[in-house]
Amino acid sequence: MSRIGDWMQEPARDVRVAAQADVVVVGGGPAGVSAAYAAARNGARVTLLERYNHLGGLASGGMVLVLDDMWDSHLQEISVRGTCMETLDRMAALGLAKFPTRGEWGSAPKTVAKWTRWGTFDFHSKQKPHPIVFAAAFDPDAWKRVSMEMIKEQNVELRLHSWFSRTLVEDGKVKGVVCDTKNGREAILGNVVIDTSGDLDVAASAGAPHIGGSYIVTTVFRLGGVDTDEAERFEREEPEAFDLLDREIKRTLGGSWAQWWLKTPLPGVVWCNCPHMPGLDPLKVEDLTRAEVEGRRIVHQTVDLVRAKLPGFRNCFVVDMAPQTGVRQTRLLEGEHVMSKEDVMQRVRFADSVARGRDYYYPYRSMLPRSVENLLVAGRHYSATSAAQKISREIPPCMAMGEAAGVAAALALDAGVSVRNVDVAAVQRTLRAQGADPGDQSGPNTDVPPLAVAQDEVAA
Ligand SMILES: Cc1cc2nc3c(=O)[nH]c(=O)nc-3n(C[C@H](O)[C@H](O)[C@H](O)COP(=O)(O)OP(=O)(O)OC[C@H]3O[C@@H](n4cnc5c(N)ncnc54)[C@H](O)[C@@H]3O)c2cc1C
Repeated sequence: MSRIGDWMQEPARDVRVAAQADVVVVGGGPAGVSAAYAAARNGARVTLLERYNHLGGLASGGMVLVLDDMWDSHLQEISVRGTCMETLDRMAALGLAKFPTRGEWGSAPKTVAKWTRWGTFDFHSKQKPHPIVFAAAFDPDAWKRVSMEMIKEQNVELRLHSWFSRTLVEDGKVKGVVCDTKNGREAILGNVVIDTSGDLDVAASAGAPHIGGSYIVTTVFRLGGVDTDEAERFEREEPEAFDLLDREIKRTLGGSWAQWWLKTPLPGVVWCNCPHMPGLDPLKVEDLTRAEVEGRRIVHQTVDLVRAKLPGFRNCFVVDMAPQTGVRQTRLLEGEHVMSKEDVMQRVRFADSVARGRDYYYPYRSMLPRSVENLLVAGRHYSATSAAQKISREIPPCMAMGEAAGVAAALALDAGVSVRNVDVAAVQRTLRAQGADPGDQSGPNTDVPPLAVAQDEVAA
């Protein structure tokens, strides 16, 4: 081993081949689970790699506990279906997901009062208070459980505790990946690799063009022992005192959304999507460490404050701080189509649309890297400008992208073509037949199969 300036030169090493699959999915977050599930469901042998001890990514380990951007206010319909709705249905059946029923969508004061503290409102709306829409609050452990069940049902080979470190590329073609594990480095080979790491680790390592994005980092936490009725009474009946105190708490937090706490399906447990910390680079160990240390300090300071002053929070305690750091944006793919803010805002439809968010659409080309073969990218690091990603990276559309990537990989392998040359119309047809909405048809989605639990609930 020799040192050259700030770099150490490692000698070449052999790596044990630990697994071989048709499709290797790197990252077990919402997009990755969806991709693995969809690829296996369509006949591929799939290996799913995840660095942590659970599935779900930011939705579970990151404790991001509201599913939104799945209601289209223009077409007045649930816009994200497929694996996202399946996950929600299963959590609802466990009593661990809550969402307003169809009769409650809108701005009626009674439902606004009932649902706002669940976070199920349209925060893009200029209307104040924001109207209640189809969105869902859920429990992080339910997400882990359901993801694990879905993966198991499709016989996906799951490899947890596997930290991706390098992409294996030969003549511009991805052949697999290398992971660091307790057992040393391991190679996992595949005919198609889907990068769902959220930070574009695989595509960047393969040399795919990308840009560096950035956004706030957040230390998400949960508090227990909260009397939410009392807290809501205080907000409703003593608005001036509430406002004053709410401002003091937000100053202490140093940044949060309008509602710094939201209800969860667990009684007396609230979700706090804060504090927000700007100016950090989540690809750097130094900045990630700063975020953890500073985030924890702020949380403890805030808890002292609310215990002392905020009605309903006098007996609260920290249940947990999210084991996964709240990173929203790092590297972004520069793929065959780069989504612009205008594409999102103006609801541009594409002939090769394969996934849909609130009221915006993802072309297949936004998941396809330039100049690297056998690789697809799905989730929050998809091909978009930084500004576009900020308004199109919620959990449901990331799952829709993952599902589309999984279907595309399986169909490409079946047809013996590269993912670049897959028949996109066949991908769209398959997605639709399996209950997803690829967003390729204008007007309301009348011909996708009905939803299960969610449909019963919303029709009530
Ligand atoms: C604080 C915060 C609040 C948010 N609020 C909301 C909200 O209210 N509603 C909403 O819908 N969305 C919200 N979002 C956005 C949403 O959570 C993410 O955009 C979404 O989870 C992205 O899903 P993903 O699968 O693309 O990536 P991730 O959820 O980041 O999953 C990536 C997965 O890859 C794994 N991984 C990463 N690198 C490696 C590696 N090297 N080797 C192996 N595995 C690896 C990770 O451990 C993780 O499991 C929020 C995000 C944050 C941070």
